[in-house]
Amino acid sequence: MILALAVPARAEPLPVREVAKGVYLYQGAHGEATAENHGGIANIGFVVGDASVAVIDSGGSAHQGRRLHEAIRQVTDLPIRYVINTHVHPDHIFGNAAFLADEPDFVGHAKLPRAVAARGAYYLEGLKQRLGSASEGSEVVPPSLTVAERLDLDLGDRVLRLTAHRTAHTDHDLSVYDAVTGTLFAGDLLFRERVPVVDGSLKGWLNVMSELRAIEARRVVPGHGTPTADWPAALDRQESYLRLLRDEIRAVIRDGGTMEQAVASVAAAERDAWLLFDDYNPRNVVTAFTELEWE
Ligand SMILES: [Zn+2]
Repeated sequence: MILALAVPARAEPLPVREVAKGVYLYQGAHGEATAENHGGIANIGFVVGDASVAVIDSGGSAHQGRRLHEAIRQVTDLPIRYVINTHVHPDHIFGNAAFLADEPDFVGHAKLPRAVAARGAYYLEGLKQRLGSASEGSEVVPPSLTVAERLDLDLGDRVLRLTAHRTAHTDHDLSVYDAVTGTLFAGDLLFRERVPVVDGSLKGWLNVMSELRAIEARRVVPGHGTPTADWPAALDRQESYLRLLRDEIRAVIRDGGTMEQAVASVAAAERDAWLLFDDYNPRNVVTAFTELEWE
């Protein structure tokens, strides 16, 4: 009886769905992280091999991570050997703490440790303010295994190919390709429905997208939005937006306009095409303006 008290309350399993054989996904809600959704706004999932399990992004809080853990345990008892973080953003990493007891390798881009060191504490403080008690147990868990270019993780008759990309959505985006099912986890290199967020390099992202197009995937799981087999056409909407952002900012700069003028006008034609446009487009303009004014 005393032992039972020491066991943490079980979390409700996340409602995951099997998008391909052995590939499970929880599709995040389009919105901001709140106490109600426990920061669960990104797509998170896991892949089951013959010998072990890999988590691909752990969610926006320890609570969401625990729910993902429960979902895994409803599918398999195999050990969770890897927790892969596609990048540092809070909605992708703060479930890590829920997997510490499994002693997995926490895997990320070679530049992820630097990003975690620079932003982790700030993000955790922000999470506590935003989620309150719903953030309980969340902590910054840095990677223990990093990827400079490529890394294959064998889950037992199932190899995940991890690719560390050049600066795009962030300066440390990692994508994961499951060769068995042809499923590409793009992380936030691909947004669908919700407007993309530029935190790295607009020009770099356009370059990386053309590299992604070369991957012969049978389906793609974006960091945000609905998975699709429509590949690589699934990149087209995002590419249109990022190109318009680039071209219209360049035009403002060429005409001697200010950043404020750019924020007020750039990419307005895309406004109705995306959710959360007014929340993120102005920031994207500021970030990209700073990048493009020194061309
Ligand atoms: Zn992100």
